[in-house]
Amino acid sequence: MKVLKFGGTSVGSAGRIKDVAALVRERGCNIVVLSAMSGTTNTLVEISGYLYRKNINSAKDTINHLEERYRNVLAELYEDEAILHEATERLNERFSLMRSLAHDGFDERDEKTMLAQGELMSTAMMELYMREQGVKCVWLPALDFMRTDSNGEADIDHITEVLCPMLEANADADLFVTQGFICRNAAGDIDNLQRGGSDLTASLIGAAIHAEEIEIWTDIDGMHNNDPRYVERTTPVAELHFDEAAELAYFGAKILHPTCVMPAKFNNIPIRVLNTMEPDARGTLIYNTVHSRSIKAVAAKDGVMAIKIKSSRMLMASGFIHRVFEIFDNYKRPIDMIATSEVGISVTIDNPLKLEHIIDELKEIGTVTVDYDMVIICVVGDLEWHNRGFEAKAIDALRHIPVRMISYGGSNYNISFLVKAEDKVGALNALTDALFPEEA
Ligand code: ASP
Ligand code: MG
Repeated sequence: MKVLKFGGTSVGSAGRIKDVAALVRERGCNIVVLSAMSGTTNTLVEISGYLYRKNINSAKDTINHLEERYRNVLAELYEDEAILHEATERLNERFSLMRSLAHDGFDERDEKTMLAQGELMSTAMMELYMREQGVKCVWLPALDFMRTDSNGEADIDHITEVLCPMLEANADADLFVTQGFICRNAAGDIDNLQRGGSDLTASLIGAAIHAEEIEIWTDIDGMHNNDPRYVERTTPVAELHFDEAAELAYFGAKILHPTCVMPAKFNNIPIRVLNTMEPDARGTLIYNTVHSRSIKAVAAKDGVMAIKIKSSRMLMASGFIHRVFEIFDNYKRPIDMIATSEVGISVTIDNPLKLEHIIDELKEIGTVTVDYDMVIICVVGDLEWHNRGFEAKAIDALRHIPVRMISYGGSNYNISFLVKAEDKVGALNALTDALFPEEA
């Protein structure tokens, strides 16, 4: 059995839902994970924003607009009157719930419930469309099996324990459909796996049931070797190691959610990134094999700040680095890149929250300078240190660009450069020209 995940744009209209249904039917009995229809989660966030501001009327107005959109989709999706009626009733329940949350005391728990409605609706619509097509499609309630523990980490044991019997109890099903993104937390309240979390849902289900493969269906033909928004000639990467894919997802490639690689990796379940618009294209296979001596891809992570701390004591006095890390840790700010020298350390973070406090504390132990508007350019591939010449090639490509930091040797798969935001496009293009000349 495989897990097939479709993102919001893949189910963004009645026509796209029908296309996905046809594609899924051809592939046999699998578990289909759906996101909310495109734009829905953003709208639910917007509604929640109004409710936090106690602007009940604007919240209700936005709910009405959303409902209208869904009604139009239903009318286009179903031909069978009885099924259309049932779909309308099911959606009515969702919209009544949203309206019941539109009150003055709207809090975080209400918001989580609000945000969960998109996936509950898209999967209900798919289940009923399948039924209309004569397919026995079983709707699996993610809120019953997808759970996080007290650290906010997915509870794989619980997922396995609850989900596997659900599958066994429906051995005659043609297909299963379930909601991405939504879950319950350790307290049993409705929660979610963060924005874009449907990829993680697919990976967790894949790990829990030991799926043959996890397929992430999106609207691009795999992970590309550079960012197609800034570089003209990019090509899909046919194969990536789990760790290469994790680095790429974390450092900018928007196709896969960064957290989704780990559950698949630990259980050695291949992930395939495929294109709903071009189902026969090869896409990208992410698995447990490294292609030696090849550079696979380049990605950029925006909105980075670099902080340099020069030690005010002599050289790298012991305890200095510990103190620096402790300060970031106390403010729960993870560090991305690090470069050290005998007299100081530079680190990057990607979130300015509490930055002034961090800087104030760092100033107690050294001289601090901050560079804003920076970008991490990450080159991914077989960068094992015995391989000669790969770092040189990447560095040489950037010879015309001022580089603020370089990080190499933290893993066998990555070399990262920190440059100014204004140099990002130039750096990405220079790297494509140097590293993938046959495609350029
Ligand atoms: N619907 C959620 C979002 O828009 C989850 C997802 O699509 O992966 O973030
Ligand atoms: Mg996504």
